[in-house]
Amino acid sequence: MKVAVIGTGYVGLVAGACIADMGNDVICVDKNIDKLEQLKQGVIPIYEPGLDELVQSNIEENRLIFSSNIDMAVKTSQICFIAVGTPQEEDGSADLQHVFDVAESIGRAMNGYKVIVNKSTVPVGTAEKVSEIIKENTTYPFDVISNPEFLKQGNAVDDFLHPDRVIIGSNSEKATHIMQELYAPFFRTGNRVIIMDTKSAELTKYASNCFLATKISFMNELANLCEKIGADIEQVRVGMSADPRIGNKFLFPGIGYGGSCFPKDIKALLNTAAENNYDLSIIKAANTVNKKQREIFINKITEKLGDNLSGKTIAVWGLSFKPKTNDMREAPSVTIINNLLEHNAKIKAYDPKAIENAKLYFGNEIEYSENAYSALDGADALLLLTEWNEFRRPDFDRIKSLMKTPLIFDGRNQYNTKSLANLGFTCIQTGITNS
Ligand code: NAD
Repeated sequence: MKVAVIGTGYVGLVAGACIADMGNDVICVDKNIDKLEQLKQGVIPIYEPGLDELVQSNIEENRLIFSSNIDMAVKTSQICFIAVGTPQEEDGSADLQHVFDVAESIGRAMNGYKVIVNKSTVPVGTAEKVSEIIKENTTYPFDVISNPEFLKQGNAVDDFLHPDRVIIGSNSEKATHIMQELYAPFFRTGNRVIIMDTKSAELTKYASNCFLATKISFMNELANLCEKIGADIEQVRVGMSADPRIGNKFLFPGIGYGGSCFPKDIKALLNTAAENNYDLSIIKAANTVNKKQREIFINKITEKLGDNLSGKTIAVWGLSFKPKTNDMREAPSVTIINNLLEHNAKIKAYDPKAIENAKLYFGNEIEYSENAYSALDGADALLLLTEWNEFRRPDFDRIKSLMKTPLIFDGRNQYNTKSLANLGFTCIQTGITNS
């Protein structure tokens, strides 16, 4: 099949490469010319396990090409994905300008029946608006599908190639059939395509992200209570997880969620609710708790080290918003480090992949370390902010010999506080009082 993917970011690039890998001809379009030039040279602008090889091999097989020419891409394709960003407006609503710009360009370029697929996360009713914009610019027939994306950064290629489910929001049998054909090779064992109307598909994406964010905030609230009553949230978590109705995912307390999706999608859904005079009180609370969680972590640091951190060196392990990505958007590290800088701390940070992106946030206000251990030299405290695998079982004797004080603020509850206490460390976590 011939496919155009417009917007070559985390979602568009992964989708384009994976769809090409199934034997389709894919043109990935972007308006960022520098990015396209890099991609044409085989340089991948984001870190995503497995993506490099996938893009390379599909370029070599001539199934994947990159272009800034949206007109050509639409004219040569039967299916056009819209995968541009939908950032947050000041009032929290989703900014749909990029989506509407692309819809207009698609409308102008139409030369026959096409399926326009909205992959960006967009508020309910956007498929209808996209449809209106295209209709204003063409007389050719088309259908607009809502096909929200559920990939997880850090595991995006695998998620796209082996999806739990593919949601197709469609009001047209013909377009549904074409989409089923496109996705069929991804489901060799059991078809997990779920067909619904476009509005429900648009809401399913927000509902899923808001639910996951709420799980995290729920656990963080309980963890905070554990600290007050002397219970251990890790033991509570294990007990809860044994119930299959609850499951064991997204129950980890700590410094809360970040990234380009959860915070933005929560605000967009709250906005949609407000516009419709409905108060989504649980989701509002999830957002409030998440913000508070970062403050609580910072307070633990200043309680221990004092309000004025001048003369104190703080080592930071992990800057990206989660492991296996270099994405720093809405990362807890940004709020926490900026706050500690305001308290005059000296920060020495290390991240396996996000240092270059971190420089866009902190410039030369912090020191960047070449490896995990060099960040610890003379440190008064270590903050674990992102649970990369390489931080899981570090050499604690070496850590102790490098630090000025054996003090760890474990923002992801990664370490065993009792074993660390035996080694002479103080390890402060979330929801655990025996540290
Ligand atoms: P991104 O910022 O990484 O990429 C967006 C790309 O679109 C950029 O390269 C930008 O240059 C390009 N673009 C913008 N306007 C354009 C135009 N008019 N023509 C051509 N290209 C244009 O964004 P992303 O993280 O890939 O997210 C895209 C959408 O997918 C968002 O709605 C997001 O909420 C959603 N989503 C993201 C994830 C994720 O994990 N990142 C997961 C699921 C859904």
